[in-house]
Amino acid sequence: MSDSVRVRFAPSPTGYLHVGGARSALFNYLFARHHAGTFILRIEDTDRNRFVDNALDEIYESLTWLGITWDEGPGKGGSFGPYIQSERLHLYKKHVEQLVDDGHAYYCFCSSERLARIREEQEKSKTKIGYDRHCLSLSKEEVKVKCAAGEPYVIRFRMPSGRTIKFNDFIRGDIEYQSDILDDFVLLKTDGYPTYHLANVVDDHLMEISHVLRGDEWIASTPRHVLLYEAFGWEPPQIAHLPVILSSTGGKLSKRKGAASVMDYQRAGYLPEALVNFLALLGWNPGNDREKMTIEELHGSFSLEKVSPKAAVFDEQKLEWMNGLYMAERPVPVLTGELLPLLVAGGVVGSEFEDLPYLEKVIGLLRERSKRLTDLVDAARYFFVDPESYEEKADRKHFTAENAGYLQTLKEKLESLPEFSKAELETALRTTAEALGVSTGKLIHPVRLAVSGVSFGPGLFDLLELAGRERVLRRIDVAVAYITKKNGLE
Ligand code: GLU
Repeated sequence: MSDSVRVRFAPSPTGYLHVGGARSALFNYLFARHHAGTFILRIEDTDRNRFVDNALDEIYESLTWLGITWDEGPGKGGSFGPYIQSERLHLYKKHVEQLVDDGHAYYCFCSSERLARIREEQEKSKTKIGYDRHCLSLSKEEVKVKCAAGEPYVIRFRMPSGRTIKFNDFIRGDIEYQSDILDDFVLLKTDGYPTYHLANVVDDHLMEISHVLRGDEWIASTPRHVLLYEAFGWEPPQIAHLPVILSSTGGKLSKRKGAASVMDYQRAGYLPEALVNFLALLGWNPGNDREKMTIEELHGSFSLEKVSPKAAVFDEQKLEWMNGLYMAERPVPVLTGELLPLLVAGGVVGSEFEDLPYLEKVIGLLRERSKRLTDLVDAARYFFVDPESYEEKADRKHFTAENAGYLQTLKEKLESLPEFSKAELETALRTTAEALGVSTGKLIHPVRLAVSGVSFGPGLFDLLELAGRERVLRRIDVAVAYITKKNGLE
């Protein structure tokens, strides 16, 4: 198979690239890499009504961020280009005319009003919905005259009757459709653009695509494609439809049910390696219990034989868990580079922030507790910005008048510490508690709340050491003043 594998991902720029599309891209990419084949990116932009500005840029950006690199396609070139369908209109025109000449397709001049009317009548009489072949009987002469007069037209495929259309889906096995349920679908539209069916088949053939791996929503299009291949006299590629992706709350993954865009996951703090690893397991598994795999390991083990026809479930919690694994092993300097723009955007540090050694220590301390980069942004905030408020429940519980006094005593002790180190801090806190005759909890909880504003986080002494004497003392002062005021007002 090795030298013949040519696969493509063929998105339509009708919106952002969502995770389902990214899974299709990834499976094609992995299949190509596994077989040392070629992965092609082809843009199917023939539906001008659904074209969305910026969608193309977002598709390129999303694939690039995920590390799904294409060998041929926009920006890369290749000997089968152009790879954007709107730049290939002459090819579709030429091929559709060949179908007309061979009697497999015909011109249709019916107006949209007429088509709407016959549809309405078919619905009323509960007969088969579809084109009624009104224009099939037009002679070549009549067609010529209408074209010369500038009448708008489409070109339709002439659906053979009484045919059983069979094809073998690599994942689902043999599939059959009856041609009688299909109508004379449009190949070329009035605006001169091909429909998806025509452009897709012509390009898969001309680009010598060996395998078509696409989402299951395209199964119903396949019988039309099979007939088109036959009409052209071409060998169809091997076809495989990837399993549907369900949301974890049930139902098909949709925009409403978790099908966010790839870039949304970037914004939500996910690492591309984790998302790729997670997407690879949506319908595929390596045949053992292994789940965590780098993209290079996936190249090695991906096979179509192990893709299941059963629905896959998009489990956000599993994605989070997976992301946590990748975060934990990321070298701190790398993580720091990735996090800095998010910290600036989140207002945690200014754009001219330079104290990278401090930031690296903060990240080193916090990353094991963080599942996403955005968790780290939130958790890191108090290492840079003094708390503006205190967690409500902890405030009520730990910021009592009595504890304010203890905090004040602790502060005096910390002021005179020769070294503001973890070990010294721990000894100071314990001896202060002893001297006061209170449990260490009477100091531990209020001081954490005073310094961080919250009741949870890394080990207290790590936190205090890293935040540093100046910050810690200042925040204790602020907290003591706050508690005094709060109690005075009560
Ligand atoms: N343009 C189609 C899409 O948006 C391509 C489907 C196929 O791969 O044939 O998904």
